[in-house]
Amino acid sequence: MDTWLVTGGAGFIGSNFVHLVRGLKLARVINLDKLTYAGHLESLEPLAGDADHIFVRGDIGNVELVSYLLHTYEVSAVVNFAAESHVDRSIDGPGDFIQTNIVGTFRLLEAARHYWNTLDGDRRARFRFLHISTDEVYGSLGPDGFFTETTPYAPNSPYSASKAASDHLVRAYHETYGLPTLTTNCSNNYGPYQYPEKLVPLMILNAVEGKPLPIYGDGLNVRDWLYVVDHCEAILRVLKSGRPGETYNIGGHNEKTNLEVVRTLCQVLEEWVPSQKNPAMNSRGLRYEDLITFVADRPGHDRRYAIDASKIARELGWRPRETFLSGLRKTVQWYLEHRDWCRRVTEGVYDRSRLGTVGLP
Ligand code: NAD
Repeated sequence: MDTWLVTGGAGFIGSNFVHLVRGLKLARVINLDKLTYAGHLESLEPLAGDADHIFVRGDIGNVELVSYLLHTYEVSAVVNFAAESHVDRSIDGPGDFIQTNIVGTFRLLEAARHYWNTLDGDRRARFRFLHISTDEVYGSLGPDGFFTETTPYAPNSPYSASKAASDHLVRAYHETYGLPTLTTNCSNNYGPYQYPEKLVPLMILNAVEGKPLPIYGDGLNVRDWLYVVDHCEAILRVLKSGRPGETYNIGGHNEKTNLEVVRTLCQVLEEWVPSQKNPAMNSRGLRYEDLITFVADRPGHDRRYAIDASKIARELGWRPRETFLSGLRKTVQWYLEHRDWCRRVTEGVYDRSRLGTVGLP
């Protein structure tokens, strides 16, 4: 069986990816994660006892450690999810974003390059370095048009600028050293195991507790939404059949304003926990939608993102399985059934009632 080094595999998308890979028994996984506030061993609990999932707490910027793991486990692919990922936090303090997203990715690339240079024959030909990135590197769109793989980069937040820099490094390592790299740029994800500072889980948890549902500005910022398992399946396709040196956009064909997202969530929640039967709500005679409140906009808030995902569909045959509604139903159900996970990962760490720090991925 192949062995893959998955970085950031205790985070939102990384943990979903590890569950998918181990569920399908596609590879042994070395899961390297620093366990920042966004990384949670609780998200990996279902893998307890799986001898082919090896968790290592550590930093992607630790070249010695990464080299040791690559050589010891004879890794055939690196899948890099590790990052600082929250835009609002990057505005409050960009330093960690520069350190992990730029310097960390650089060091990971260095370790991979030196390791790859020691490989020969089939192992050298098959090695891949897959870097997970975001559509936010492209900046903001007007009312029309889509981001394609050739759209010029124009990042607007410290988060997206740091991801853009890492994407350029990955590209340069292919062009300069021939390292077989691949990059994916994906739209907003939602689904299980997302830390409840991001829009979808935050709104679900606030709503069931009868708390305000804060939306930035006029609520009309548009994002494309993709169910996280669809994203993970797209990553698998790229890893298996993507052409080294290429980038692939991944999106859900689900352009929604933030207001639409929250309203739809409220409707789905009514199906599961009708507001009239929710003790946190019924005493006030409110429905979930009545909890929506508008708060001061985020500085530099991009107006619209939309992804043209036709390249990955055409070349690799990938299309999302979930619609926005089916994905949201699964997500709401998961959060309602995993209140313990939510409590454990947030307890004492993050104050969700601080309206100023909520937001989008
Ligand atoms: P996340 O914040 O939930 O998880 C990031 C993980 O990386 C955490 O487990 C954290 O502990 C770990 N980490 C952070 N710094 C590290 C370091 N220096 N060394 C090792 N591990 C470290 O993020 P996510 O939402 O799962 O995003 C994963 C990747 O996908 C990121 O690169 C992000 O830019 C990209 N992405 C995210 C979205 C989205 O909607 N969430 C969309 C497109 C792309």
